Amino acid sequence: MSHIDCSGADVVVLKYMKTGISIVLATLLHLQTARSQSATFDITYAGFTPEAEAAFEYAADIWSTYLISDVPIKVNAKMVFLLPGQLGITFPNGEKNFSGAPYADVWYASCLANAITGVELNPGEADIDVFLNTSANWYFGTDGNPGPTQYDFVSTVLHELCHGLGFLSLGNVEDTTGSFGLIFAESFAPLVTSFTWPDLDTLPGAFDMWLLNNADVLLTTLDNPSAGLKTAFTSNAIYLESPMVLATNGESGRIYAPSTFTLGSSLSHWNEGTYPVGDPNEFMTPFAADGHANHIPGPLTLAVLDEIGWEITDGLPITNITAPAAPLMVFPNPATTGISLSGDAMQDAESIQIFSATGNRILISDATTTLSISQLPAGWYTVYVQTATAMYTCRFTILEH
Ligand SMILES: [Zn+2]
Repeated sequence: MSHIDCSGADVVVLKYMKTGISIVLATLLHLQTARSQSATFDITYAGFTPEAEAAFEYAADIWSTYLISDVPIKVNAKMVFLLPGQLGITFPNGEKNFSGAPYADVWYASCLANAITGVELNPGEADIDVFLNTSANWYFGTDGNPGPTQYDFVSTVLHELCHGLGFLSLGNVEDTTGSFGLIFAESFAPLVTSFTWPDLDTLPGAFDMWLLNNADVLLTTLDNPSAGLKTAFTSNAIYLESPMVLATNGESGRIYAPSTFTLGSSLSHWNEGTYPVGDPNEFMTPFAADGHANHIPGPLTLAVLDEIGWEITDGLPITNITAPAAPLMVFPNPATTGISLSGDAMQDAESIQIFSATGNRILISDATTTLSISQLPAGWYTVYVQTATAMYTCRFTILEH
């Protein structure tokens, strides 16, 4: 027992050290504000229609108002065919051990490194590559009012750009081993980044520095790579705790860490079930709801960006308090074996039907909030919920079982 107490004490000391460092950093950044300005984006588009481009621009403008940087953020935006159920994938370029880096031997999104140093550290290279699924049912309007089966493009771009700003983990799982900084360009084939994928060299990212397991142990203090990291990454009990998150939220934020690890989804989002659609922190959860928009990052996400080194403009809205929750939601989406239905429609639901993408009725059921879908093949489906007064629909995806 005494051994456990000792290691607990070490963790506490380590946390306080980090608190000290971030206070110093915040002070330095504060001194710089006189010469800083809102961030600007320099975006190169491929495969975009004019309306898609305008919506992307609108999303980048929203981030511009929140972030402060003297160095333009360079983005390559591409519309491509992704797997059904995927809306977008984002790859930030990275820098480490630059002048003014808050931690040595830790990766920072290059746009963040540029913002911290005030110097463009990666001339000629993009900071962020964003790939968006050309086959998704997008709503390209900028008024946050998608149709019931449409995905709000602005919301998705805001979310993807947030990963590009450094809201992501460099954790990975290969067979029985979990690791930080062992993600390779081949992992994303056939997608290829516009910049040379850096040798991550088993180093964590700035976001990873604040992840705890449910024994309050910092994941970056565990052996890397190790079976223990895989156990943690798939424990469904990972938390992000930092001084700014605690100040904002009163407690740590819960990270998405399901029992099956998915690169790009696990660890790099808030937990879907903890922050469902309509929650002020829904913005950086792994699943998007159709028929729903959110153009405001939310307090937890902004606290994390602040913690990893971004200077955030004061006085802007941090929650999407006016966004209504969709009347019918499917979780998880995409799904594999079962779905849960929620939302106001379920309160007086009378019957439920599921139709395939080609319009065949696959299932009819009395009102229930959970349905097994393990017998259904992969693809797009629409669930219809009939109440005494209305019919509600929600589209969802079933992945290969
Ligand atoms: Zn995401």
